[in-house]
Amino acid sequence: MTDRAERLACVLVVAGLDPSGGAGLAADLRALRVSQAWGCPVCAVLTVQSTAGLVSTHPVSSALVVAQADEVLAHQPVRAIKVGALGSVDNVRAVATILSRMHASVPSVVDPVMIATASNAGARLLDASAIEAMRDMVSVATVVTPNANEAATLAGVRVESARDAESAAQQLLRLGAHAVLVKGGHLQGDTACDVLALRSGTVRIEAPRLSTPSFHGGGCTLASLIAGNLAQAHFPFDDQTVLDAVRRAKKRLYEGIVDATKVGDGLLVLPL
Ligand code: PLP
Repeated sequence: MTDRAERLACVLVVAGLDPSGGAGLAADLRALRVSQAWGCPVCAVLTVQSTAGLVSTHPVSSALVVAQADEVLAHQPVRAIKVGALGSVDNVRAVATILSRMHASVPSVVDPVMIATASNAGARLLDASAIEAMRDMVSVATVVTPNANEAATLAGVRVESARDAESAAQQLLRLGAHAVLVKGGHLQGDTACDVLALRSGTVRIEAPRLSTPSFHGGGCTLASLIAGNLAQAHFPFDDQTVLDAVRRAKKRLYEGIVDATKVGDGLLVLPL
């Protein structure tokens, strides 16, 4: 066994399969390699999709999601869990149960994905009826990474400014998560301002706004970069460890967005 093999921390990723290669598990695995982690992909939902947009979603049964996850958890030393698109309320409940079983010993990063960046004919990655189950999952997550829309939906408030994002993040923190990162990419302003709510206070993380044409996979990539960074930190974390993991992930995502590439019609992808 080489030293390199010993350095790789396993990260269990429960998310969707996007055949465009831009988002979901494919993006997660690329991001985890960048952060020197080893991704163990559990498929929760198949999608019919290309860079031109999401056509339809086909959730895997929750029994099969749990079987995939439990097999990896039984035989591989998982140092973090990343959760992306789950496709059904049953899958949200099943994954929340896994997180609550593990959350004292293994940190998790939950990206509460609901709607794809480019969705055809209203295809959603998750039904509106799953919102209550999502809130339960937030309560057992270590880090939650909603965009402004998802934060608004989960907190039941409007999120149109960085100040709104701060109060939504505080509300989600009170549900039980250790940290909440509200991504402000779609909010107005000259800079892209993310808000990170921690138990010790709230931090704004600003970056210059890029004029890159629309791309997808950004949310998946950021959450996986954070999970990969946290998989290498000593758990339980202090707030500074989470802040460092988020800052490093944001910096790497920014470099990826600068390099966004066309691999077909429609959306660009991030070739990390
Ligand atoms: N997960 C899957 C399987 C997807 O198909 C998508 C979007 O198309 C997402 C997650 C979310 O992508 P993004 O990172 O662009 O929010």
